[in-house]
Amino acid sequence: MKSMAELTPIPFDHLLRRIFYEHEKTDSIFDLPARHFHRPGIEYDLSVKFLGKNAANPAGPAAGPHTQLAQNIVLSWLAGSRILELKTVQINDRIELTRPCIDMATIGYNTEWSQELLLDESLREYVKASMIIEILKQWMFLSDRSKSFQPKQFDTIFDLSVGYDLAGIQSDTIRNWLHSMRNATSLIEEYRRQIPAEFSAYKDLCFNPEIGDSITLSTFHGTRAEEIESICEFLIRELDFNVVIKMNPPMLGKEKLEHLLHEKLGYTNIEVNASAYEASITFSDAVEMVRRLQVTAGKQGRTVGVKFGNTLEVINKGNFLKGKVQYLSGQPLHILHLQLVDAWRKTFGAKFPMSFSAGVDANNFADCVSIGLVPVTSCTDLLRPKGYGRLPQYLQNLELKMKATGSRSIEEFIIRSNNSRVVNETAAFEKAVMSNTSELLKRSIENPWYHYDHNRKRPTKVGSHLDLCDCLNCDKCIPVCPNDANFGFDVEPVDRKYFIVEVNESRWRKTESGNFTIAKAKQIANFADACNECGNCDVFCPEDGGPYIEKPRFFGSLDSFRHHKKLSGFYLDIKQNRSTLTGRFKDREFELTWDPILDRYVFSSGRATIETNASTHEIRKASLIDTKEEVIDMRYYHAMSVLLKGVSNTSRVNFVNIEAHRS
Ligand code: SF4
Ligand code: SF4
Repeated sequence: MKSMAELTPIPFDHLLRRIFYEHEKTDSIFDLPARHFHRPGIEYDLSVKFLGKNAANPAGPAAGPHTQLAQNIVLSWLAGSRILELKTVQINDRIELTRPCIDMATIGYNTEWSQELLLDESLREYVKASMIIEILKQWMFLSDRSKSFQPKQFDTIFDLSVGYDLAGIQSDTIRNWLHSMRNATSLIEEYRRQIPAEFSAYKDLCFNPEIGDSITLSTFHGTRAEEIESICEFLIRELDFNVVIKMNPPMLGKEKLEHLLHEKLGYTNIEVNASAYEASITFSDAVEMVRRLQVTAGKQGRTVGVKFGNTLEVINKGNFLKGKVQYLSGQPLHILHLQLVDAWRKTFGAKFPMSFSAGVDANNFADCVSIGLVPVTSCTDLLRPKGYGRLPQYLQNLELKMKATGSRSIEEFIIRSNNSRVVNETAAFEKAVMSNTSELLKRSIENPWYHYDHNRKRPTKVGSHLDLCDCLNCDKCIPVCPNDANFGFDVEPVDRKYFIVEVNESRWRKTESGNFTIAKAKQIANFADACNECGNCDVFCPEDGGPYIEKPRFFGSLDSFRHHKKLSGFYLDIKQNRSTLTGRFKDREFELTWDPILDRYVFSSGRATIETNASTHEIRKASLIDTKEEVIDMRYYHAMSVLLKGVSNTSRVNFVNIEAHRS
């Protein structure tokens, strides 16, 4: 049984049924409103080549919290991503992480690491996601003949990511894992059989068994250049992958890095962990290594590229994340990596394949595209309010800039961003990439968007504390969750008297104790199986306490509910005409069964049972179970009856009530 912060993947058929009914009922998928789905147009061709393959555009999520679970990957895709860097996997799939692990209050820090799933679970999540995307392509777009979508507008690439050392990557376990990602036929056939009736038209769809053929390599901060090179040689020569090496910002050297960070950008509050410099591969070592690897890759017919890049290891001076160090992302990282991109371009020229992920957002995405980076991926920005819904703006802004420059393709856009009138000429393209890069770097360093003063404001807190029910209803906690663990549900507001009920062997009596009130029709809950306690919803919630801690926490199974004895929470077993909610409030446990035909609730503390009229909440009878007396505070009953009816209400679709939706 897993510990609380561990994720439990959602079954394939549940994911698909949730997609189907949520789309039908609330015009959204995994809480992403349909207005945020990316619908490719025909006016601009945003397609790019990544390591020899076509992608319909260069946007995507970086390896991280947005590419771990199947629903995250699907959300990234719906919002427009076409090159998705899957979360890094490594041999040790039982890592213990401190929680919370994401602090987006200002520029963005984390203490995240590799996959939080077992390796087999990660493999399955990636296969499930690739199959769902294939089904969605057909179901939502290509089958709609009135829209004339073209298959190539949906060309999507999964880029794998592995870490962290040679021994782990050469192990049979990782080797087999990578083989399975190259040929996932058996898993695809297993999941094909699980496609629910709602999507039966797609049971015979042709799913590509090769989930990906490129790997972005992530190594420990401090891995020696020789080891990185050996890993790359192994991946290219023995396993026949294209390889992208993720580079660390200390490659800039201490003096240059701190000049930019402190003097140019004003982040004098940030202290780089000194050991990050000592341990980092130098720029010149990286250049030499990549030159040798280009030869290796060339012989194999494969490609080697680099990614700028990794987060920056800094001293943790805050009190939200635990531990001595934390990893910086966001706006300052953007400048540090742009500086590295410029230096790398000057060494390797315009055609060298470079991925980019550092402080990418809707404001700078098009600029990053204009300097020939593929893909341009984001993580920090997608953890901010609106979450995945921020991505479509990246592509819309790119199209606006293409329009302004009179460009119809990405290559034209790169050339015309350099004010060149010549199109489709290699020389013009290369010249444009080089000069666009240098100009963008100069411009960006001076741009206040990246400076400390612009990025110091924290999300507003109003001073109130969250409770089980009712809150400000700002809805921020739903889209900022990368896993779609928080969800809204509707209840009927209540304001009724509640009683303390005393039951003994001869009779029961009730004593009026006060009013039980739920003021708002809209409530928030958390699905524990999808919550890894990253803390991001706490940062953006205007109230204190953290939605994932204070709001009703629903477990996906009774076993899971029982296992996490120290946590308050609920398990809802939905059956036709007889649903049962099991609940724990600190150390008190109750069970509530609702029988709508008999209009009856049966509420049990384990020591006594109380039967009520489900419409009026009048107590019909009370009896003891194997004890001599019991006292029950009926506030628990009222809270559970509201939760049971609210969460099982099928007008809204969530991971808890999915069993209630069937064709
Ligand atoms: S519910 Fe909150 S803490 Fe849990 S995974 Fe989502 S954002 Fe993180
Ligand atoms: S729990 Fe917090 S973030 Fe979520 S809707 Fe309520 S007030 Fe907003």
